[in-house]
Amino acid sequence: MSLTLKTGVEALPGVGPARAKALARLGLTTVGELLGYYPRDYEDRRKSASIASAPADVPVCLTLMVAEPPRLSRIRKGLELVKVRLVDDTGSLTATFFNQAYLKDALRTGETYVCFGRVEGEGARRQMTNPVCERMDKVRFTGRILPVYSLTHGVSNNLLAGLTLRCVEECAGQVEESLPHDLRQAHQLAEAEFAVRNVHFPADEDALAVARRRLIFEELFYLTCGMALLRTRRDKAAGLPFERFPEEDFLNLLPFSLTGAQRRVIGEMTADLCSGSPMNRLVQGDVGSGKTMLAAYGAWLAAKNGYQCALMAPTELLAEQHYRSLAPLLEQAGMRVGLLTGAVKGKARKTVYAAMGRGELDLIIGTHALLSEGVAFARLGLVVTDEQHRFGVGQRAALSAKANGTPHVLVMSATPIPRTLALIIYGDLDVSVVDELPPGRSPVETYVVGEDKRQRMYNFVRKLVGEGRQAYMVCPAVEEGDGEDQEPGGPVPLKAAVTYAETLRTQVFPDLRVGLVHGKMKSKEKDAVMTAFAAGELDVLVSTTVIEVGVDVPNAALMIVENADRFGLSQLHQLRGRVGRGKHQSYCVLVTATRSQDSRERLRVLSKTNDGFKIAEEDLRLRGPGDFFGSRQHGLPQLGIADLAGDMRVLKEAQTAAEELLRADPGLTEPEHAGLLARVKRLFAEQGDVFN
Ligand code: ADP
Ligand code: MG
Repeated sequence: MSLTLKTGVEALPGVGPARAKALARLGLTTVGELLGYYPRDYEDRRKSASIASAPADVPVCLTLMVAEPPRLSRIRKGLELVKVRLVDDTGSLTATFFNQAYLKDALRTGETYVCFGRVEGEGARRQMTNPVCERMDKVRFTGRILPVYSLTHGVSNNLLAGLTLRCVEECAGQVEESLPHDLRQAHQLAEAEFAVRNVHFPADEDALAVARRRLIFEELFYLTCGMALLRTRRDKAAGLPFERFPEEDFLNLLPFSLTGAQRRVIGEMTADLCSGSPMNRLVQGDVGSGKTMLAAYGAWLAAKNGYQCALMAPTELLAEQHYRSLAPLLEQAGMRVGLLTGAVKGKARKTVYAAMGRGELDLIIGTHALLSEGVAFARLGLVVTDEQHRFGVGQRAALSAKANGTPHVLVMSATPIPRTLALIIYGDLDVSVVDELPPGRSPVETYVVGEDKRQRMYNFVRKLVGEGRQAYMVCPAVEEGDGEDQEPGGPVPLKAAVTYAETLRTQVFPDLRVGLVHGKMKSKEKDAVMTAFAAGELDVLVSTTVIEVGVDVPNAALMIVENADRFGLSQLHQLRGRVGRGKHQSYCVLVTATRSQDSRERLRVLSKTNDGFKIAEEDLRLRGPGDFFGSRQHGLPQLGIADLAGDMRVLKEAQTAAEELLRADPGLTEPEHAGLLARVKRLFAEQGDVFN
C-alpha cells in the first residue's frame, strides 16, 4: 500500500492498536504528523573504525563478522548474557549483550554486521557492551546521524525512528511547499522536502543546520503571520468612538493620587478609546504597580459614554477582590457594579444575567463564567482581562464576541515579559508599561534558607506577628502524597497545605491564629478565610498558590514559600508581590531542601533583585519559555521546533518577512498563499476559531 500524508499510523508495519494508542499520546495519528514531529536531539553514528584503530571510549561503527556461535548464559533470575566473538581484518573482540537473549539466534555465524558502540580494553581483552548491531545489508540506524525523539511509554526511539524513516522515504516529497518561492530565495531557505528529510535523517551537519533553519523560520513565520492577521483584522474593524470626559472627575474618586506611570497609561488609553478604532492594549506592570486603577478608569470612561465594561479575572478570589475594591469606588460616580463567578448560582445568577442584558450594570466583574452561553450584554464597549497570561488568545476573542461590534480590549499582565517575547506573544496588541510603584514601598527583603534554618524561621514568624504583622506560608501541594521531588539522595515529600496547617496549629504556633486556604475548598469557604485574613483575624495563612495573583492585604509583611525550588522565578516573584503592599518592611523566605547547587543559585536571583523584568529574563534563560509561563498558559500555539528564547535572530527575520508579505497580501487571500494560510490556521487551530 502506498502512503500519503493523511494515512493513519496504524497502516504502518509494526503498528497495532496498542502502539497506535501510545503514538496518539504524542499527538501522532497520521504520516503527516509523524513527519512534523521533529527530533529533540541527534546521535552521531557515522564515525567508523577497525578493531585495531578504534579510539578508547568514543562510540564508533565497526564492520564485524560473527566468528563463532553466540553463547547464552543465565547469571541469575532477570540477568541473561549473550557473548559473541566478532572479528575484522585487524583483530577480534568480544561483544556482551545484557537481557537480549534473542540475539543468540539472531546473530549468525559468518554474517557481517555494522556494530555501533564503545570499544573498551586492550589486545585480547577488547570488548563492547550492548553495541547496536545491524546486518550489513540491512543497515538503517548505524553509519548515519540518528534522530532522538521525545518519547512516551510504549514508544521507543527505535520504533519512532523506524516509522519516521519509512515515512520520510515514501512521503517527504508529498510535503507541500508553503513558503513562496521569492521568500525562500530572499532568506536562503531550503525547500520543504529537503528540510523534512534532513531534519529527521540528516545527510551531514550542514544539511541538518540548513533544514532546521528552514523549519524554525517557517514556524516563526506562521506564528507571526497569524498574530499579524489578528491585528489587521481588528485594525480594519470600526471601533466605538468614545468621547473624552475630564480626567479630574475620575481622579477625584480615588483615595490617592496616581503615579506618573499610571497617568501616562491613562493618557494612552484615552487616545485609543477616542480614536475611532478599537483599542487593543496590553498593560504590563510589576505586581503592586496599580494596574487595577487603570481598569477602573476604562470602566469609568465606558460608563460615561453609555457602554458596559466586563472585567475578567483568572480566579474567583481575584474577581471577588476586584469587586470589593472597585464597587465602592465607582459607585461614588453612580456606576452599577456586578459580580459573576462560578459561585454565583441559581436565582442570583439569573438576576445578574438579566441586569447585564438590560444594561442595568455598568461594570461586570467575573471569571470564565463571563464566557458562559447565557451571558449577554446590552452594550458591551470594553473588555478587560486581568493576568492575561492565563487566558488564551481564543478566550479573549470569545469575550469580545459578546459585544455587538468590536469592543475595546485592555489586557493587564503582571508577568513581566522580556521585550523580545512580548513582541511575539502580544504581537496583536499595543503595549503600555507601568514602570513605577506607588510611593512608600520598600523592596521586599528575600532570603533562601535550607531545612536547618526552619526553627529560626518559625521564630521570625512569631516575632513579626508579635509586632502586629501577618504572614503567608505557601505550599506546593494541597494534600499529603500530592507529589514529591526526586533528589539524588531520595525523594523529598512536598509540603502539603492541609497537614502543614494542622502541624502549625497544634505544634508550632498553638498560640497563634492559623488559617488555611487552598484550591480544593469551596469558593465560599475560601472567601471567608481570605476575608478573615484581610480583616486581621488570622495571624498566619497557610495556602497553596491560589493566593498567587492579585490578593491584597497590606498588613501582611512576611511571605514564606515551602519547597521553593518547585516554582519558577517569575511565579515566586508574583507570590512575593503579595507582601510589601503596606508601609511595613516586608520579607520573603524561600525554604528549600534541594541539594542542587543550581537550584539554589537560581533562587538566589530573587534575593538579589526586585525587578520583575530582570527576573523574567533570568527565568527564561534558565528554564525556557515553556516553564516560564507555566504549562502553556501563555495562550500561544505549541511550537514544534522553534525556541522563542533561543531563536531570536530568526524570529526577527521571520517577523520582517511576515510584515512584507502581509503588506502585499493583507489577508493571505491570493491563491498562491492558500497553502500558507492553511498552515497558519493549523498552527492556531487549538486556540479556538480565532480566524473566523
Ligand atoms: P497590581 O498592579 O498588582 O494589580 P493593584 O492594582 O492591586 O496592583 O494595586 C496594589 C495596591 O496599591 C492596591 O492596594 C492599590 O489600592 C494601591 N495603589 C494603586 N495605585 C496607587 C497609587 N497611585 N498610590 C497609592 N496606592 C496605590
Ligand atoms: Mg492585579
